[in-house]
Amino acid sequence: MFDVIIAGCGPTGAMLAAELRLHDVRVLVLEKETDPKSFVRIVGLHIRSLELMAMRGLLDRILQYGRQRPAGGFFAAIPKPAPKGLDSAYAYLLGIPQPVIERLLEEHAIELGAQVRRGCAVTGFEQDDEGVTVELADGQQLRSRYLVGCDGGRSTVRKLLGVGFPGEPSRTETLMGEMEVGVPQEEIAAKVTEIRETRQPFWLRPFGEGVYSVVVPAAGVGDRAEPPTLEDFKQQLRTIAGTDFGVHSPRWMSRFGDATRLAERYRVGRVLLAGDAAHIHPPIGGQGLNLGVQDAFNLGWKLAAQIRGWAPETLLDTYQAERHPVAEDVLDNTRAQTELLSTEPGPRAVRRLLTELMDFDEVNRHLIEKITAIGIRYDFGEGPDLLGRRLRDIDVKQGRLYDLLRRGRGLLLDRTELLTVGGWSDRVDYLADPTAVLDVPSVLLRPDGHVAWIGDDQQDLDDHLSRWFGKPPS
Ligand SMILES: Cc1cc2nc3c(=O)[nH]c(=O)nc-3n(C[C@H](O)[C@H](O)[C@H](O)COP(=O)(O)OP(=O)(O)OC[C@H]3O[C@@H](n4cnc5c(N)ncnc54)[C@H](O)[C@@H]3O)c2cc1C
Repeated sequence: MFDVIIAGCGPTGAMLAAELRLHDVRVLVLEKETDPKSFVRIVGLHIRSLELMAMRGLLDRILQYGRQRPAGGFFAAIPKPAPKGLDSAYAYLLGIPQPVIERLLEEHAIELGAQVRRGCAVTGFEQDDEGVTVELADGQQLRSRYLVGCDGGRSTVRKLLGVGFPGEPSRTETLMGEMEVGVPQEEIAAKVTEIRETRQPFWLRPFGEGVYSVVVPAAGVGDRAEPPTLEDFKQQLRTIAGTDFGVHSPRWMSRFGDATRLAERYRVGRVLLAGDAAHIHPPIGGQGLNLGVQDAFNLGWKLAAQIRGWAPETLLDTYQAERHPVAEDVLDNTRAQTELLSTEPGPRAVRRLLTELMDFDEVNRHLIEKITAIGIRYDFGEGPDLLGRRLRDIDVKQGRLYDLLRRGRGLLLDRTELLTVGGWSDRVDYLADPTAVLDVPSVLLRPDGHVAWIGDDQQDLDDHLSRWFGKPPS
């Protein structure tokens, strides 16, 4: 008997497993692939994800494998630098190969005690009042109290749950891969510049040692389960560029579409969805992995609280209440970005206009806070603007604030030195620091770093401790 079975060991599943292990939850991750992913697609980790990594002590490890780049220029690839003074200690983008971030998150989960079984595809489940019976492809049955589908865009768990996945199907597909070319770099560069004027996405970018990253529109919308062939690349290059640039010796090849869909529900009883299993959208802006990891961060402590028995009745449902609107917003911004990439005259005019508008600091700041997820404000009711937002990493007398959140517990940061977390001290830490750089008296942080309360009144604080952290143990 496990507490939680997670289907899928992608970035979302691995992050969720680690978050649950911070609270001693017995976690099993089932991954259908026997080996980690082979493609080496570079993904961008945006500011909020970097903050989460810092909060769990992972950032230094991750930084070694990535390349830091300026945070700006991501919205529809409009090349505007980020506005000055972004509200974060980690105001950059980290480019990192997806298999590397997945490996690091999986290692982190295992170090914390999660079990990961590869070559195990979830094919069915049944839930009852006490738990979920999960069936594997080899007929084996396993039992857990909860099941979370982190099994990607074609999620078996979502389909078996019967949860609707409304949205738009792919209108176009793109081929992406890494391969060697047979012509000089200058020849490629000139041709690519010319073609990009009228066809997007299209690029051949040198990747080092004669290998190029190649992106070219596919001939049509096909079966994405089937990887493309080298001949597919050659044919499309010839159709669009008039030459196949002598591409050969592919390292890996894949295809992706621009379908945009959002699960109608994130939870049905004891079964939940997170990451691409709950939402898919085109990769423009590089937000999918970030969104999934942030889902896991939101869900982890709530599901753990449910299992530990101290969760207030509605806590687990705040996962959908908070994260569904965030995904809705990401889907919408990718729809908008996709339009802005069109080479048609109308969208090009809108793009020129938006490019001008981004010279206004507030417009640029709004868009970058959207893409990097630092602008998210959950609806915790009326209160100061900081309520419901995440708090940036600040200096506190013991060092950095985020270092104090590593154990995935709540934290009361008390500048008045008069408050107490009382009976909640088994799940909420306390730090009295009158010198902390905050313009409010005290804040209560949830384990995901969002501000759950602001004030200086003990009774009001106790009410909010109950709201988020349940009844104190008697
Ligand atoms: C070209 C491209 C570029 C991208 N760039 C970025 C970027 O820069 N930044 C960004 O944030 N995102 C980016 N993304 C999106 C990102 O890759 C995904 O959003 C991310 O991989 C989702 O993670 P996940 O863990 O939710 O799902 P997945 O990565 O799909 O992982 C799901 C896992 O579940 C396993 N699985 C599936 N079915 C089962 C089953 N039945 N039982 C057990 N296991 C199962 C799969 O094998 C897989 O390992 C990009 C995507 C594309 C296509």
